[in-house]
Amino acid sequence: MSTQLSAGSTIETRCTRCNGVLNHTIVAMVGEKIVRVECSTCHGVHAYHPVKTPREAAAAKGATKKTAAPRKTKVDPEAAARAEWAELLPGMDSAQAIPYDMTRVYRLKNLLSHPNFGLGIVQLVIVPNKIDVLFQDGKKRLRCG
Ligand SMILES: [Zn+2]
Repeated sequence: MSTQLSAGSTIETRCTRCNGVLNHTIVAMVGEKIVRVECSTCHGVHAYHPVKTPREAAAAKGATKKTAAPRKTKVDPEAAARAEWAELLPGMDSAQAIPYDMTRVYRLKNLLSHPNFGLGIVQLVIVPNKIDVLFQDGKKRLRCG
């Protein structure tokens, strides 16, 4: 270090009270280490905190601590599926429904009719041989072609 620091010297460091990097007067040193400083702005005396990157400083201060937003009550996936199905129902033409056959190939949004689950809409095609179908009772994963 070219500049000799000593008690009484001014140094730029973070003031925990002002929450910013400000001029401080060195109050106490141990050897070459600054121990305590006095903020020139608020005159608060506090431990010397070496200036860190803003992110580190924030982390140290806990400023980035995320206040977890209280989660909304969980949506029942089954209820959500039923609601979705009900919404899609008007667009379903049962005459156009493809009877479910596990050897058949289905495409996204295909309407199919399943012997147990009834009418369903293909919501996801999982290569090579599975489909997710939304039925009135919820989403089912079925085999296909
Ligand atoms: Zn201060």
